[in-house]
Amino acid sequence: MSKAKTKKKRAAADEVKSAARMTARPSNGNGNGGGYGKIGVLAIQGDYEAHGKMLERLGVHPVYVRSAGDLEGLRGLILPGGESTTHLKVAREEGLLPGIKRLAKNGGALFGTCAGAIMMAREVHGPKQESLGLMDISVLRNGYGRQLASDVESAPTALRDEPVEMVFIRAPVIESTGKNVKVLAEFEGHPVMVEEGNLMATTFHPELTDDTTIHERFLEKTRKSG
Ligand code: GLN
Repeated sequence: MSKAKTKKKRAAADEVKSAARMTARPSNGNGNGGGYGKIGVLAIQGDYEAHGKMLERLGVHPVYVRSAGDLEGLRGLILPGGESTTHLKVAREEGLLPGIKRLAKNGGALFGTCAGAIMMAREVHGPKQESLGLMDISVLRNGYGRQLASDVESAPTALRDEPVEMVFIRAPVIESTGKNVKVLAEFEGHPVMVEEGNLMATTFHPELTDDTTIHERFLEKTRKSG
């Protein structure tokens, strides 16, 4: 592996570790800015602050969603990476699941990254796990084994000509997609970025790169939603 790639990998891993260590809570925005609808980031655990920073770069001051009331009036919501079992448990305890499902059903834009994609899936394996069942995809948790436990790759997407940098951290494998799901990027023979109407998911972490392309795509969806 090239030196540059090793360095990049290390930087990505450090960023994830520092996000996990983070104890100070980022300040809450009003969800607005940038001329988009009101945007939230599920802030239970994991790297939600990295998504928040990405949105701030695009002019949006997100609401960090921790209770059902925080979902009110949202046009878009990001479900971040982290541990999907923890996200699910806390979201259930806080009574967030019905509100998230309602948002998606009413045309709100949802974007799940890694654990967030697992949350959004219709079916979860490895082991079997409850999910929101919003997107017609079936996923296998930690499906790349040790091979992609933590890796920085780059692959083409349907979004633009140049490849997109993809940070994989214990990523799920998207095993199958329904007929209404568009595959926007693949890596090693599996879909890694998918879209279904107002819903979008990546098994990698665009919030841990400098590239705002994928978040811009999500924000455009909030204009069409609700
Ligand atoms: N492996 C985690 C899970 O199964 C997801 C990892 C991530 O979000 N980076 O929940």
